[in-house]
Amino acid sequence: MKCVVCKQADTRPGTATVTMERGGLTVVYKGVPAQICPNCGEEYVDSAVADRLLKEADETARNGTQVEVRQFVAA
Ligand SMILES: [Zn+2]
Repeated sequence: MKCVVCKQADTRPGTATVTMERGGLTVVYKGVPAQICPNCGEEYVDSAVADRLLKEADETARNGTQVEVRQFVAA
């Protein structure tokens, strides 16, 4: 798809590092599948993937965790 930020290039499949903040928790997910703009570097994470990461972050926040780094694992 065409990048909506710079409108200069088509995005390409790749992986991104996504940071989620939920309450007092910060979770960093590495290796998240995403479409990436080769021109400006904008990352587009699939909404189904983003929803899943948010749910996981909510569960982790309930344990009182403050910072966590995870490797993304495909469902
Ligand atoms: Zn772009």
